[in-house]
Amino acid sequence: MAKLPQAEAGQFLRVNPITCVARGMCAELLPEQVKLDEWGYPILKGDPLPPQLVTHARRAIAECPTLALRADPTPRG
Ligand code: SF4
Repeated sequence: MAKLPQAEAGQFLRVNPITCVARGMCAELLPEQVKLDEWGYPILKGDPLPPQLVTHARRAIAECPTLALRADPTPRG
């Protein structure tokens, strides 16, 4: 099995709005943290990742077709 990307509890999801193609895979795999707007672009909850969602977040990051989704250790400033 391929190694899942880095994401840890307490980190924050980020979307690169330039590379996101609004397919919504992230919202399907991580509905607790990602909703979609009317055009299919992700709206992130903005909370730190809870431990029980870390594996789901890693899968969502891995499945993003354009590598637009990532986890970041710092909150949005
Ligand atoms: S999976 Fe990636 S490309 Fe698709 S909506 Fe989410 S961030 Fe955007």
